[in-house]
Amino acid sequence: MRCILLADVHSNLEAFQAVLQHARENGGFDEAWCLGDVVGYGPDPQECIRLLRQLPHACVAGNHDLAAAKKVDTDDFNPHAAAAAEWTAEQLTAEERRFLGGLPETLLRGEFTLVHGSPRSPVREYVLSAEAVAQNLLYFDTRVCLIGHSHVPVLYVCPDEDFCYAQAPGLDFPVDISEGRVMLNPGGLGQPRDGDPRAAYAILDPHELTVTYHRVTYDFVTTQAKMKRAGLPQVLASRLGLGR
Ligand code: ZN
Repeated sequence: MRCILLADVHSNLEAFQAVLQHARENGGFDEAWCLGDVVGYGPDPQECIRLLRQLPHACVAGNHDLAAAKKVDTDDFNPHAAAAAEWTAEQLTAEERRFLGGLPETLLRGEFTLVHGSPRSPVREYVLSAEAVAQNLLYFDTRVCLIGHSHVPVLYVCPDEDFCYAQAPGLDFPVDISEGRVMLNPGGLGQPRDGDPRAAYAILDPHELTVTYHRVTYDFVTTQAKMKRAGLPQVLASRLGLGR
């Protein structure tokens, strides 16, 4: 069994298509596990929702998904993110807004918990340190938790309930996650923020208990041109080229 982990697609169709093609050419996948923020920031919200829904998938809600569905307000968004959320909501059909608004905040798949932000605050909290991971261990019952939201690929391992450490995951080889408790982020697919503009994703084997991180070059110039045509904030387009 192979699950493709998709976090923070953010309406970036070029990145999404490139990742799916890369995954299909490298062993394929059985199911897509989506860690929230299918939309927001980027120029192709409808196409990304459609592409996700064509796959066998399980998906949790991100803050941008709920904002586009008008289920949460954008008071804590920066002005560019809020403008993009407003634009996104206008593009979607009522049915698409219902789909996003109906996504659960937390999902369980065997020994895996799926959330966008963190177990203790599934839509909002950014997990940015091993200390934050240790605090969050109390808030989920499975051994492994899969997260998105920070747009940075990382693997946290907790040998004890009060001690976790971060591992910068290497690329293209399976990493064993069979020991201790684990929290991991496959990275931001449609808007990476670790200084590498390539699209990020991971393949999880829930039976072998391995995760393989990947980065994929995609045509962000096309995405940027679409954003310009849509009138989305220039700063959101520029950051795609920087991976920040
Ligand atoms: Zn995001």
